[in-house]
Amino acid sequence: GAGGGGYGGQQGYSEERNSARRVADHYSARSNQTLEERENSPIIHLKKLNNWIKSVLVQLYARPGDCVLDLACGKGGDLIKWDKARVGYYVGVDIAEGSIKDCMTRYNGDTDQQRRKKFSFPARLICADCYETRLDEYLCEDAPFDICSCQFAMHYSWSTEARARQALANISALLRPGGTFIGTMPDANVIIKRLRETDEMEFGNSVYWITFGEEYNEKKFPASRPFGIKYKFHLEDAVDCPEWVVPFHLFKLLAEEYDLELVLMKNFHEFVHEYLQKPEFADLMRRLGALGDGRSVQSTLSQDEWEVSYLYLAFVLRKRGPPPSQ
Ligand code: SAM
Repeated sequence: GAGGGGYGGQQGYSEERNSARRVADHYSARSNQTLEERENSPIIHLKKLNNWIKSVLVQLYARPGDCVLDLACGKGGDLIKWDKARVGYYVGVDIAEGSIKDCMTRYNGDTDQQRRKKFSFPARLICADCYETRLDEYLCEDAPFDICSCQFAMHYSWSTEARARQALANISALLRPGGTFIGTMPDANVIIKRLRETDEMEFGNSVYWITFGEEYNEKKFPASRPFGIKYKFHLEDAVDCPEWVVPFHLFKLLAEEYDLELVLMKNFHEFVHEYLQKPEFADLMRRLGALGDGRSVQSTLSQDEWEVSYLYLAFVLRKRGPPPSQ
């Protein structure tokens, strides 16, 4: 089990720190795209699909008036989704200073692109390492939260057991009993399967590649060292940094230690199949532009984009305990 003694094989502390910095610097350095650049991106339909998946999660699990904690919030791309769900309060935390600045700008609505009515909820934005720091100390006045979201970022905590535990301890400490934790991250099953299908230590297509280091030549990942399994991820026009494999069964076990129970886990392909059946979500997909006229999602995205979406999963967990009485 995941309890007690813990797992061996941790990386050195300073190497670990450097990896977190590299991730932060990578995201900080990414500049804002113009609308035109965005529309010309080779992964524009994938980005739209990802936004749809996050919107569906928000619509399914957020309630009006909710207090929201957005871990690894990035440039605040999800602010509008939370606004549509009419949440009451928003706290965003990210390690990348540049992203927090952009998020602030977006919240204040003072860029040309973002000229829009102000958001209807108050917000607080914090620059911090969510997987290193005890966030309850920063956020004691804001907690408890009704819902916590960690989109495309949970896997950055899996570099060491200590960081993975700090991530889950933070979420658990800040959520109210009965509160919800929603997120998206790479699907380790798919990644390891792809790796084993090739003769190389690398695989990908025209829009992404993943490279594992020579230390994994055997393509075996000992159960005794389920943290710190590093690969390099490159996604055209989006990501280029080290990431870590998150074995899902372990994520589930570790989360349970922190009173977070699994409610749902679906690979993106399955998620699309299931929720696209609902007319309101199909409409949303059309409005977002990830569903061309009369076409399926598969044929709106390029084959290579569709393959990338298969590398991800969505999850929902619930903090144990009865929700507070009304
Ligand atoms: N959640 C946003 C979204 O869905 O658009 C951003 C996703 S982006 C792929 C990953 C984000 O994780 C980046 O903004 C990065 O700075 C953030 N991140 C990575 N490691 C982090 C850490 N240790 N603490 C806080 N944020 C982190």
